[in-house]
Amino acid sequence: MRLSEVYAADALAVSIEIFPPKTPAGDAALRGHLQQLCRHNPAFISCTFGAGGSTRDRTLQWCRIIRSELQRTAVAHLTCVGSTREQLIELLDEADAAGVRNIMALRGDAPRGQDRFQAVAGGFAHASELVELIRERHPDWGIGVAGYPEKHPEAPSLEADLNHLKGKVDAGADAVVTQLFFRNDVFLSFRDRCAKLGIDVPIVPGIMPITDPARIQRITAMCGSSFPEDLARRFDAVGDDRKAQFEIGIEHALRQCEQLKAAGVPGIHFYALNRSDACHRILTALGT
Ligand SMILES: Cc1cc2nc3c(=O)[nH]c(=O)nc-3n(C[C@H](O)[C@H](O)[C@H](O)COP(=O)(O)OP(=O)(O)OC[C@H]3O[C@@H](n4cnc5c(N)ncnc54)[C@H](O)[C@@H]3O)c2cc1C
Repeated sequence: MRLSEVYAADALAVSIEIFPPKTPAGDAALRGHLQQLCRHNPAFISCTFGAGGSTRDRTLQWCRIIRSELQRTAVAHLTCVGSTREQLIELLDEADAAGVRNIMALRGDAPRGQDRFQAVAGGFAHASELVELIRERHPDWGIGVAGYPEKHPEAPSLEADLNHLKGKVDAGADAVVTQLFFRNDVFLSFRDRCAKLGIDVPIVPGIMPITDPARIQRITAMCGSSFPEDLARRFDAVGDDRKAQFEIGIEHALRQCEQLKAAGVPGIHFYALNRSDACHRILTALGT
């Protein structure tokens, strides 16, 4: 199924994002978690592309597992980091050979040790160029792109960032999947601004259930998403009680999902962090 079809259906399209584990034990555990989550009939499972292309082969290996073992639509993430146009074409050919027909097209971040992203000679500076390349070579593939309700950390303003997002959609993206956020008003205002700019593809919220507040604060610092003070206070109040932290995280994410569903989102993309417990609880409560 292509991304354009995924979001054309009436039902809420749930999707799960994973990253390739580093060890065989991690692979085995992830298989188990995904089998559990497949009971909720995810519209697709996407696999990230490691920083600097570090998981290049593993991303496609996991896309093959998603397709053949789990019988689900696989979406391969692909970034421009460290690759020339020709190398990106090779990667697309490999994705084609693996039966992948949907790509999450990203610029990627600067490799460790560099403070700003720099395109390699003969490579791309912006995700929009990757979208153009994919559209040119594979006109019928599904293409997702990243959107930032709280703006991309490098963008001078949300307005500038939204104009660049429009550039990615005009280049041929089928859907925008957002960076994680914890306040729905931020997403809903972003969605309104996208509509005003004529961004007319599905805008899909990205939700990360919090199971470990210490880890989440590191992640939000990296991706520029704000962490609500009232939520931080609730976590502080339970100290190191892991079970209580988990329950607070689930409750918050579930409330977000219920409100987003009521607000008519076409789907919800879960940053599942290779686990199933939190998403399983949320999806069960959502009735999906
Ligand atoms: C759903 C999702 C999935 C992700 N998956 C991965 C992954 O698998 N691997 C990974 O390494 N990272 C991933 N990321 C992170 C992403 O790579 C980073 O956020 C990266 O910094 C930006 O990528 P982008 O595709 O949004 O870039 P772009 O859309 O190119 O935007 C990057 C910055 O450049 C600006 N910009 C864009 N076009 C122009 C232009 N024409 N002129 C001037 N400025 C411009 C934008 O405003 C923005 O500030 C993901 C993010 C999301 C939300």
